[in-house]
Formats: sequence, structure tokens, C-alpha cells
Amino acid sequence: MDLLEYQGKQFFASYGIPVSDGAAADNVDEAVAIADRVGYPVVVKAQVHTGGRGKAGGVKLANNTEEARTHASNILGLDIKGHIVKTIWIEHASDIAEEYYASFTLDRSAKAYLGMLSAQGGVEIEAVAESNPEAIARIHINPAEGLTEEACRDWVVRAKLNPAATEGAVSILMKLYNAYVEGDADLVEINPLILMPNGQVHALDAKVSLDSNALYEHPDYEQYDATQPRDEREVQAHEKGLQYVGLDGAVGVIANGAGLAMSTVDVINQVGGQAANFLDIGGGASADVMTGALEVIIHDPNVRAIFINIFGGITRGEDVANGIVEALRRVQIDAPIVIRLDGTNADEGRAILAPHLNDKLMMEPTMLDAARRAVELAAAR
Ligand code: GDP
Ligand code: MN
Repeated sequence: MDLLEYQGKQFFASYGIPVSDGAAADNVDEAVAIADRVGYPVVVKAQVHTGGRGKAGGVKLANNTEEARTHASNILGLDIKGHIVKTIWIEHASDIAEEYYASFTLDRSAKAYLGMLSAQGGVEIEAVAESNPEAIARIHINPAEGLTEEACRDWVVRAKLNPAATEGAVSILMKLYNAYVEGDADLVEINPLILMPNGQVHALDAKVSLDSNALYEHPDYEQYDATQPRDEREVQAHEKGLQYVGLDGAVGVIANGAGLAMSTVDVINQVGGQAANFLDIGGGASADVMTGALEVIIHDPNVRAIFINIFGGITRGEDVANGIVEALRRVQIDAPIVIRLDGTNADEGRAILAPHLNDKLMMEPTMLDAARRAVELAAAR
């Protein structure tokens, strides 16, 4: 669950990390009132679930009420990488002497937490990692042992921050680590972490991703749910009780079982195509379930062909086939459908489907053949 910057800052503040005084607004008048209250200069910042807002014109400095009004009205409604700005955050502007980068995340291969700290902040850390990897100081932390102040201090020294920032950085990083662990976050990132001319260290941006599986321990995280970006296709599918994940390709996928559905997405990739979705209809393949699945898939304008991949286990082939035939009676579908049916009573199922086959409804003997056919059909339309 990804937080917006202002939510991340509130999260940080609750762990004692210093952030600027500010508030969120969803209209211009409210934004101006906040700017007048926190005092000029202020920064007006787009709140969207993507980075690089500064470059996209989503972060602007205002020196007075009039400028605050101009920036607020320009930024509200702005399209930043496909994210429309509905909320802005207005905070008192900070004087910056230096910009650093700091984060904690999980390094699965090392079975440890990973802290990254760099004196080259403000820019994308991926760019620093590429051009100047030694400018990033790393620390691995054994989750059972935690981060000691000694280890943290050593890490800060290795990162070669301005010595004036050492104490402030150590203090913030200890709190950031605590926020990461106690808050059950997958990622906490401050970019930039700034050193101010007065020697104070301060978080100027916040990127926080919380572990959705830990929600039961943090009932207050429910407040973040409302601002999560939603894939309309996923909302519709979940309402129908389907296990659906939206993807970017043109081949709609229906499979029974999460493993088979994932393999189907992979095989489509392997033959040069791209799945439009992951969809697991589970054990049963009744007409109702199949109808719901097809409705969700054809609702996606990117879908050019549909691949139904069923391996009968407890569900028998003839039940699956009857479900498909009945569903096709109920739903009007323009995209061609390719079926692969195997497993228990597959022959009986195929016999039921045979009289219905045409150039819009095809059957292939293997998963690979069916994937090829579906990808070809999607490309041809
Ligand atoms: P991002 O572009 O989405 O990462 O947004 P940031 O919150 O990191 O802001 C981008 C850049 O705007 C920062 O790296 C700063 O250089 C600048 N900026 C943001 N807030 C302030 C501020 O309070 N004062 C000054 N002087 N610059 C700021
Ligand atoms: Mn940033």
C-alpha cells in the first residue's frame, strides 16, 4: 500500500522525524488559506502515487498569496505520468544547503534489511546507482539484532555527508528505521533528506509503502485505503469475487488455479505476446463464474483475443465445456477466443465444445499452441 507524500510525512512525524509544517488541500481556496497560515515562502506539491513530480511541474515555490493561488490552480488537475492531481500539499518552504538520500527496504537475497544513504540526493537514486554506485553507502541490518547507534553512525560516516549533518542524520535514521520496523513498512524513503544552513536535518519528501498483510496490526492504516489508486477493471472483478490483476497486454486470460493463471501469463510472454490480465476463476468453472470472467475481460478495451486455459482436476471437462457454452450464450463477445482444455474428462469436454467451434471460438491441444494462436489473433486485430 503506497502512501501519498503527505501521508508519508504524517507517518514520519508520528515517529518523531522532523518534517515541514503543512497541510493538504483539494481546492485552491483551501490551499491559499493553508499557505497564508504556514507562512511564506511555501512549497505547493502535487500528491500523486509517482515520483519525479518536481520535473513534471508538480512542485512549485510561492512567495505570496497570489503566487500560491496561481501554483495551486495550475497543479490541481495536472497530469503527471497519467496521474491526475486531486490533492496538493502546502508546506512552509525550507532553505536547503545540501540534499541527501536515505531509505530502508528488505534485501531478500541477504535475508536482511537494507539501508541506503547517499550524499547525492534530490535526484533519482537509480541514476546515482548507475553513474556513481560508490556514492551510495549501504548497511545490512539483521532484523533480530536491529540497528545500533554505533552502526548507524559508522554508516553515516561512510556516506560522507557534510560533518555538520552527522548528528541530525543519525537521529533521523534511527527513527526512520524504527518507523520502518514498527510501522510494518516495505519501504521508507526520504529523497531529499536535507541539511539546512542552520545545521538542522529534515525530511523534505516522503515515500512510504506499507505492508498490506500487516493491516490487522494497524487499524489506523484503513484511512490510507481511500486514496489508493484503483484499477477499474480490478474493482469490477473483485466485486464479482474474481481473483483478477490488471496487466497491460492484449490477450485476456481466464484460467483455473492461481498457478495455472500465472503460467498462462508467462507462456503468452514466451511466445511474444502480453497478457491483459491475470484471472484465476478457482476450482469451479460454472456458467455463472465463466460469464462473470468474460464480462470483466471484454470490459477492458485493450483486449484483442481471449485465452481460456482450463486444466480439469476435481472440476470435470464436461462441466467446464458446458459452462463455457452457456456463458457464450449470455455474453456478446467480439474478440476471438482460444480454449485449451485438459485434465479430467477433457475428451468429453472437447466433444461438447466441438460443434460450437468457428473462427471466433477455437480450441488448441496444448497450452503453448493455444498461447501462440491467441497472441497471433491479438496481433492481427
Ligand atoms: P519529487 O520530484 O516528486 O521527488 O518531489 P520532491 O518533494 O523531492 O521535490 C523535488 C525538489 O523540489 C527537491 O529535490 C527540492 O530541490 C525542491 N524542493 C522541494 N521542497 C522544497 C523546499 O521546501 N525548499 C526548496 N528550496 N526546494 C524545495
Ligand atoms: Mn523526492
